[in-house]
Amino acid sequence: MAKKASSKKKTQTKKTPAKSSATKAKKKTTAPKSAARKGYSKKDLEHFRTIINEQKREILEELATLRESMMDTSTGEYTGENSSYSIHMADQGGEQMEREITFMFASREGKYLRYLEDALQRIENSEYGFCRDCGTLIEKERLEAVPVAQQCVECKTKKSKQT
Ligand SMILES: [Zn+2]
Repeated sequence: MAKKASSKKKTQTKKTPAKSSATKAKKKTTAPKSAARKGYSKKDLEHFRTIINEQKREILEELATLRESMMDTSTGEYTGENSSYSIHMADQGGEQMEREITFMFASREGKYLRYLEDALQRIENSEYGFCRDCGTLIEKERLEAVPVAQQCVECKTKKSKQT
């Protein structure tokens, strides 16, 4: 009696071929549209930040001087070399007009001050230097001249032509 006890069952473990990650293509290098745009280097950004802070300081000084000169004309006590001129102007009945001009100037400067603050914020967010219309990096020269610029020259001229 042939006792065929073929209990010797080979436990077949299905070989699950490990996913050949080798064949997988490398991470796509196509940069996403929004984040991780290649902007200016840290060094450049520091450079722009310095320019902006410098302009900010100048405006704040101008505004402070402006405020002082206004006080001088209203009290009329401080008679320096320059204030005698402005008092003379006020005597001509131009005090009201002068005040309005000062106000206009102050608000214009105040507006620019806000632009500068916005630009500083964009540097913080690494969003600085990109054209808000086409997304390209604005030329360094342009940013040095107009650090608050948010448009490249092309878009800027295109826009002014449209209007
Ligand atoms: Zn543009």
